[in-house]
Amino acid sequence: MDFKTILQEVYAEILRTKSKGQPASYIPELANINPDKFGIHFCSAQGNHYGLGDHQEKFSCQSIMKVITLCLAIKTEGEEIWKRIGVEPSGTPFNSLVQLEYEHGIPRNPFINAGALVVCDILLNQLDKPKEQFIEFVRRLALNSNIQYNNKVSASEKAHGYRNAALINMMKSFGNIENPIEEVLDFYYSICSIEMTCEELAQTFQLFANNGCIPSTKERVVTTSQSKRINAIMQCCGFYDEAGEFSFKVGLPGKSGVGGGIVAVCPGKYTVAVWSPRLNKK
Ligand code: GLU
Repeated sequence: MDFKTILQEVYAEILRTKSKGQPASYIPELANINPDKFGIHFCSAQGNHYGLGDHQEKFSCQSIMKVITLCLAIKTEGEEIWKRIGVEPSGTPFNSLVQLEYEHGIPRNPFINAGALVVCDILLNQLDKPKEQFIEFVRRLALNSNIQYNNKVSASEKAHGYRNAALINMMKSFGNIENPIEEVLDFYYSICSIEMTCEELAQTFQLFANNGCIPSTKERVVTTSQSKRINAIMQCCGFYDEAGEFSFKVGLPGKSGVGGGIVAVCPGKYTVAVWSPRLNKK
């Protein structure tokens, strides 16, 4: 069966399926999104694209961007980053505080919120103009200059981000945050607010299906080994305390975000991005 037929079948099945879940409301701006949006976009390693539904409508990437911040941190700082963050699945929710206390401020992995905040802190040390340089990096991977931060979404999250403030203060108390807390949070909320379509996300993640190179431009972004490791972390930690179940059912490295997006990578073969704002509990 070719991939177009498979996607058409998936799409038809989704339309027949009763919707469950609600959009994230703890970030008020995200609660305003039509919950019934659905898009899916597939991009093969040969560069063949195919999408259905709302696959060309932009949505809030949220934690999906944590993969790209990790990629840039590995690229700029290398293996040093692993002194400050682990690579173990957390088994706890994305914003949990419990492990941080007894693990002395070292987050389990770079995809839970605590770990992503440490990655942001590392990038603030590395980059002269963090927001400008980060969005330029994303645009380069996406082969698309029309990718932006959404300042309304980042402001909305900032105004209600009590959990993230607690996480970062706890890590600062253990000496694992070097920059001022406000600067790290501001950068973190900005990277989470980046908006992309399913098509753009599938394109952006192509380097992880191609050993760290952007297939169409041949630009090497990270080494083969670094790209494999990023995929390994997506496989083990990309879905918080549902990572095992996603791996069991889907079997691909991937990353979810509370905007309702999921992107997954089949190394050597394809990337696929889906969007549905209705979330499950995890
Ligand atoms: N910006 C969100 C937060 O910090 C990201 C969480 C997610 O997308 O899973 O809560």
